[in-house]
Amino acid sequence: MSYDPQPEASHYVAGGYIEDTGGAPLEVVYPFTGARIARLHCATDRVIELALASALEAQEVWAAMSGTERGRVLRRAADIMRGRNRELSELETRDTGKPLQETLVADATSGADALEYFGGLAATLTGEHIPLGTDWAYTMREPLGLCVGIGAWNYPTQIACWKAAPALACGNAMVFKPSEETPLSALKVAEILTEAGAPPGLFNVVQGGGDVGAALVADARVAKVSLTGSVPTGRRVYAAAAERIKHVTMELGGKSPLLVFDDADVEDAVGGAILGNFYSSGQVCSNGTRVFVQRGLRERFLRRLSERLEAGVVMGDPLDEATNIGPLVSAAQRDKVMGYIRQGAREGARLIHGGTAGPGPGFFVAPTVFADVTDDMVIAREEIFGPVMAVLDFDTEEEAVARANATPFGLSAGVFTRDIARAHRVIGRLHAGSCFINSYNDAPVEVPFGGVKASGVGRENAKAAIEHYSQLKSVYVRMGAVEAPF
Ligand code: NDP
Repeated sequence: MSYDPQPEASHYVAGGYIEDTGGAPLEVVYPFTGARIARLHCATDRVIELALASALEAQEVWAAMSGTERGRVLRRAADIMRGRNRELSELETRDTGKPLQETLVADATSGADALEYFGGLAATLTGEHIPLGTDWAYTMREPLGLCVGIGAWNYPTQIACWKAAPALACGNAMVFKPSEETPLSALKVAEILTEAGAPPGLFNVVQGGGDVGAALVADARVAKVSLTGSVPTGRRVYAAAAERIKHVTMELGGKSPLLVFDDADVEDAVGGAILGNFYSSGQVCSNGTRVFVQRGLRERFLRRLSERLEAGVVMGDPLDEATNIGPLVSAAQRDKVMGYIRQGAREGARLIHGGTAGPGPGFFVAPTVFADVTDDMVIAREEIFGPVMAVLDFDTEEEAVARANATPFGLSAGVFTRDIARAHRVIGRLHAGSCFINSYNDAPVEVPFGGVKASGVGRENAKAAIEHYSQLKSVYVRMGAVEAPF
């Protein structure tokens, strides 16, 4: 492929690329070959300062514009992004290793949906009039100011857009730090916003690891932090933000349950379990990695799952559109996932599919299914973030709900059943923020997304995100004389 993933420079600040070779080198590796495809530098203090200062300046200009004008810029960005979908998808594939078959439909397109949706909402963000007899009050919905976004490596474009679109629609500016594993795509989002007419500095991208993220979070000028990452990182970032009582959105990890009842359509349930475990090679926070199957359906479910994996998995070159399983993002992630697979076998889970790494130099792990998993096994308790499905058996609804809820996480949950009353009853009792009935892992921008318990705070997408990127000012208006006691 002729396209060169090396960006013009490492950071995008004040409407253009900037470099500071004083920052530590950041090598970008293509997970399919292990070869370096770009070389960047982590942000220095100087770059971080330029990014924060230019975002503050841009925010004033941006917030003074009407919602219609702001929305027009976001919608234009959505159109540009859709127009460049193939190029952006190929870059995303090289950055993450995810198959082009996925990135063509789930990354830049999802980012464009967010820009379009929040672009449409921007002009509707008003306050209310509150009559109080002769007096009255009104509210104004104001931006928070300068927001920091910090991303994980699984959906770099989507994460950047899911944070930037509502933040910008509300009149904020954003400094975004991508994961150091996948630094390339967010730069394109910044380029596109500039091309669409965003003021220079409105959306800046700075590269680096946790230390750069921490420096952004600690800065007194930052009003809000939105993190997508693991629970341990979430704890640290939440605590740092609390020092100055900053607003936060935390989109963290999960170990979500998928409950399959005896009366479920077995093909749909198997399809849901495949989507909820192997899409993006399992590197999806909301995955239903604990698949509870009622005993009466268990053997049929496992048989059909094995048959479909046997016949359907195409693991290989992620730029080949026939490939549906790509490598994991890094050698370290592959090694971590293989460690969990060995642990599952040691603990006595029955391996019924996969379990191996490879092929070639890429960071592959074959889609892996363990049956006879019990609640106490490590593979049933910890987030693996790889293609490893744990199948657990259950007898009664009551038991399944209790076991599904017995986890510190609470991101997602799903239920497969033909009994509509049971579907709603069970979903009502599951402790999770994003739930599915006879489906799994759909995430349209119109629907709020986020977790409960350790899986997070706040919501992305939908009108709910507006609450997390704006604040209300209340104004009491007295129409008569002030009656003071003295
Ligand atoms: P990490 O928690 O390791 O990192 C997330 C981001 O935080 C990275 O950009 C990282 O930098 C940065 N970071 C690390 N330490 C700090 C710090 N002290 N202060 C500020 N920033 C910091 O997550 P991964 O990148 O490994 O992503 C996988 C995790 O993300 C999984 O747990 C997954 O479930 C979760 N996730 C949640 C989603 C959701 O919406 N709920 C969606 C997608 C993923 P760097 O890594 O570059 O050093």
